[in-house]
Amino acid sequence: MLGAGQMGSGIAQVCAAAGFPVVLRDLDPAALDRARTTIESSLDRLLAKGRTTREDRDATLARVASATALEALAEVDLVIEAVTESLTVKRAIFTEVSAVCRADAILASNTSSISLTRLAAVVAHPGRVIGMHFMNPVPLMPLVEVIRARQTSTPTFDTIEALTRALGKTPVDVKNSPGFVANRVLIPMINEAAFCVHEGLASAESIDTVMKLGMNHPMGPLALADLIGIDTVLAIMEVLLDGFNDSKYRPCPLLIEMVDAGHLGRKSGQGFFSYPVK
Ligand code: NAD
Repeated sequence: MLGAGQMGSGIAQVCAAAGFPVVLRDLDPAALDRARTTIESSLDRLLAKGRTTREDRDATLARVASATALEALAEVDLVIEAVTESLTVKRAIFTEVSAVCRADAILASNTSSISLTRLAAVVAHPGRVIGMHFMNPVPLMPLVEVIRARQTSTPTFDTIEALTRALGKTPVDVKNSPGFVANRVLIPMINEAAFCVHEGLASAESIDTVMKLGMNHPMGPLALADLIGIDTVLAIMEVLLDGFNDSKYRPCPLLIEMVDAGHLGRKSGQGFFSYPVK
């Protein structure tokens, strides 16, 4: 597992809970510590709800190892990358991984929007690159978009589709395209909600109330933006704008201001709403 942020820790947890040994690798040792605490508290919540046993909780935790060195992934069968949503960062990491990992290791990315075809283009044996787009929070959400790069081989797709089911998730077969399906539909809606705040149409609370009570959404779009991370929402809008070259995908200026201010949502303690800092 590459990247121990909110998605990396969740993916590591579901893989370990399904019985797979996991190496969680991040450049930042503090992120690795936070990931372990997050996995522990998530398993404790499942235990309290009777959805796991004490033995399974302990065994799951014991299957997750941490590392800062990329070499720790040299012998793995599968790498799932969940680092920052940036083409430059992901390309660099795929180049490094291709040099360090086994030639037959499958290289999956949890990217929300970046072209898998572009990532596959920088590795040796590009047929092994695929998108595995988990939803947040990973332990609770049943969907994984399985995205085929132009180069993805059928054996790679079949393996990842079967693995997704083994993790207890439902795979959906999606072609490579900016934002895939989930974020092509979701993120412009969040962007439009941000425009409503920006233009002073209503308060953030009111906008979320409209969508919860009026559209039966379990969570308002602005609270969801805070959960996803405002930086990630902005990055996905930029990928849609760049990928389709259509001004209907222009990011709301308020999102840019928030990212510049470091108001990234739950992870920074401040987004459209305020959160206690962990
Ligand atoms: P995050 O900011 O919580 O975590 C990113 C982590 O990557 C950080 O811990 C950072 O230290 C680490 N990192 C950065 N460069 C690295 C490198 N070169 N090697 C190893 N680690 C590195 O972000 P996140 O929300 O977990 O998102 C990660 C990925 O998952 C992104 O591609 C994002 O688009 C995708 N995603 C996010 C969500 C969501 O709701 N947040 C949902 C689905 C997919």
